[in-house]
Amino acid sequence: MVSERVHGRYRRRLVDAAIAGAQVEIDLLVRRFRCLTAGCPRVTFAEQVAGLTSPHARYTPLAGRMIEAIGLALAGRAGARLAGRIGLPAGRNTLLRRVRALSDPQIGAVTVLGVDDFALRRGRVYGTVLIDLDSHRPVDLLPDREAATFAGWLAEHPGAQVICRDRAGAYAEGARTGAPDAVQVADRFHLWSNLAGYVETTVARHRSCLAQPPVTHEAADEPRADLDNAVAAARDASFEQRAFVRHARERYTAVQELKAAGVGIKPIAARLGLARGTVRKYYRAASVDDVLAKARDGRGSILRPWEPYLTERVNAGITNGSQLFQEIRDQGYTGSKAVVLTYLRPLRAGGSTAAPAPQPAPKVRTVTRWILTHPEHLDEQDTLALQQVLTRCQDLRKTAGHVTAFAQMLTGRHGDRLNGWIAAVDADDLPELHRFTRGLLRDHDAVLNGLTLPHSSGQVEGTVNRIKMIKRQMYGRANFDLLRKRVLLAT
Ligand SMILES: [Zn+2]
Repeated sequence: MVSERVHGRYRRRLVDAAIAGAQVEIDLLVRRFRCLTAGCPRVTFAEQVAGLTSPHARYTPLAGRMIEAIGLALAGRAGARLAGRIGLPAGRNTLLRRVRALSDPQIGAVTVLGVDDFALRRGRVYGTVLIDLDSHRPVDLLPDREAATFAGWLAEHPGAQVICRDRAGAYAEGARTGAPDAVQVADRFHLWSNLAGYVETTVARHRSCLAQPPVTHEAADEPRADLDNAVAAARDASFEQRAFVRHARERYTAVQELKAAGVGIKPIAARLGLARGTVRKYYRAASVDDVLAKARDGRGSILRPWEPYLTERVNAGITNGSQLFQEIRDQGYTGSKAVVLTYLRPLRAGGSTAAPAPQPAPKVRTVTRWILTHPEHLDEQDTLALQQVLTRCQDLRKTAGHVTAFAQMLTGRHGDRLNGWIAAVDADDLPELHRFTRGLLRDHDAVLNGLTLPHSSGQVEGTVNRIKMIKRQMYGRANFDLLRKRVLLAT
């Protein structure tokens, strides 16, 4: 330590933590020293009181920390107002300056990293948020969503073994260059919302299939005959919807095509992976209805044993689908509610004397939502309405089937089903979903990981929402540095 000599005394006025809202000022008389080292640029320096003063500070450390905490929580204007009210006068700029000057939290090694973008200015400027998926904490904010920026960050912060990101694009490229050894995982949340987008365009293209065809009521004066027809129609409808009917049609076509090409039963069985007896049945049938007639008589609807009971109840005036479903379930029915509702629909229409008012066509977004919702979470009305749409349009029916299979693969993490799912979708005439499967193939490894590994950045969405909230408090002026500090430190 240099030898020093007292040069004088001077007064320092410090703001300390307020007491019960009253401003506290500390008046200090401290010594000023002169440095005796020749050529020292400081020349003089002031005495510091440990725990109370620091060079040039207007606040005691405690007051300073409070100012910073207020700044983190409320930023400029609101923070300054609160600080003033509780006896810690600090202008807006002081608050912002102190928040910006805070050092970053210690990041440490992040093994499982989530990455996503967020809007800095809505629809125009995007930033990137990085999240430690083990600790669930935001790790950093980047001012753009360029591959190079992300790659640079990864290079400066090595250690990521798993990178959970949205589909392909800049983050995939950034991860490849910045952390070539990390396993890339296509995030399940993004996979699903991606699929949802394509489902919506599919539904939009089938807009004309959504409207209910006009109901004709010629037989209105013969309610009994109407009722019988309705029963038969309902039975046919529920029969037609069953999966094995669809399979039978597909198989019949496949077998007959090979037969026409001169292929025998045994090689067909090998090629299609079917039992020889099954192939023989389709091979010899004159039409698919021959095959189906047998199945229809033999198996019928799962509802068959309860059909007389339901008809009787409807005739007695009990038409509430949920109630009737409950009743037959108590009697041992194990099928779904949708089957019951489909069966009841024409019964209820036929049983009532007034013609039902024509229903407006459901909106594209509504039908999309129905298709994307887990069947158990749809109420009776929506289940029925969806069922009607799917009965009218086989493309939407196929789409709904693929969505269900995808949801099961996604939630049950059955990555092994991915290629089969892609093949099944590609076999159908669904151009929008084909765009989705092409995207899956382009990013195949990461998608497979996303459908197999436990990692997912669902929590990234929570952080993105928190960023939005913080940004809103900043009166739309999202100063990036300030936003970054507040996201990283304000928890
Ligand atoms: Zn259609």
